[in-house]
Amino acid sequence: MREVSVTRLSAAIRDAVILANTVMTPDIQRRLEEAQNQETGPVARAVIADLLENAAIAQAEHIPMCQDTGLVVVYLTFGQDVHWVDGEVEAAINDGIRQGYREGYLRFSVVADPLRRVNTRDNTPAIVHYRLTPGEGVHVDILPKGFGAENRSRLAMLKPSDGQAGAEQFILESVRVAGPQACPPFIVGVGIGGDFERVAELAKEALLEPLDTPNPDPYLADMESRLTDAINAMGIGPQGFGGRTTLLGLRIKVGATHIAGLPVAVNMSCHSTRHLAFDL
Ligand code: SF4
Repeated sequence: MREVSVTRLSAAIRDAVILANTVMTPDIQRRLEEAQNQETGPVARAVIADLLENAAIAQAEHIPMCQDTGLVVVYLTFGQDVHWVDGEVEAAINDGIRQGYREGYLRFSVVADPLRRVNTRDNTPAIVHYRLTPGEGVHVDILPKGFGAENRSRLAMLKPSDGQAGAEQFILESVRVAGPQACPPFIVGVGIGGDFERVAELAKEALLEPLDTPNPDPYLADMESRLTDAINAMGIGPQGFGGRTTLLGLRIKVGATHIAGLPVAVNMSCHSTRHLAFDL
C-alpha cells in the first residue's frame, strides 16, 4: 500500500492547467511547421505562421494560446494499492483547477447550470474520469477542452450493416459540417463501439494520443490514413481560408459493442488542443 497526499495531486493539477494552456504540445507544433512547408497558398501559409507566432508569444509571455481556456477533463488512473490521504480526491482536483485558473489568469469558462448559466468564477467543476489499475502508480491526463470545436462534435448510432463505409461517411460528414466554425486545422478524435455513453468517451480519449505515434492496429491505421487524405482534400484549410491543411491529426479508438449496434462519435478539436500527462 502506498500513501499519496491529495495535496500533491492538487498542486500538480494547478501547474498542469497553466502549462497546458500556455505551451503548445510539441507534436502539434511539429505538425503546424510541416503544414507550413506543404502549403502553397499565401493565405494558408500566413494563417499557419500566425498560429505558430501566437503559440511562441503565449509560451514566452506565459499567457494562454487561446481565449477559450476550456472545460477541464481529468483522467485519474491509479493503482488499487494507492491510499489517498489528507482529503478528498475530487475536491483536491477542483482546488488545483481553481488555483491554476486564478494564478494563471485563465478565463473562467464554466457555468454551474446549463440553463440558468451562472459562471462559477473559478473554472470548476472539472469532468473527472477514474480508472483503477493494479499496483501503486498514479497517472493523470488533463484536457482543457475548448468549446468552439466541442460544439461541432457529433454522435450516431449506426446499424451494423452500415459497416466501415457507413462509419467513414459519418466521420467525413461531421468534419465537413464543422467546417471553419471549429477552428481548423483540426485534431479529430473518433470513437467506434461501446454504447451511447462509451463511444463519446472513446472519441475524447483519442484526443490524448500523440499525433506522431502511429495507431498500433494496422486496420485502424489504414482507416486513419484514408480519412486524413479525404479530410485534407476538402480544402477547408487553416481557419477556413482554404488550403491543403484541414487536419493535423485523426485517431480512432474502438471498443466492444452490442451485436445490434455500431455507435460512432466524432469529437472535434482544434490546433489549440491542450493536454498534458504526469505521474505522481
Ligand atoms: S476551438 Fe480551439 S482555437 Fe477555437 S476558440 Fe476554442 S480553444 Fe480556441
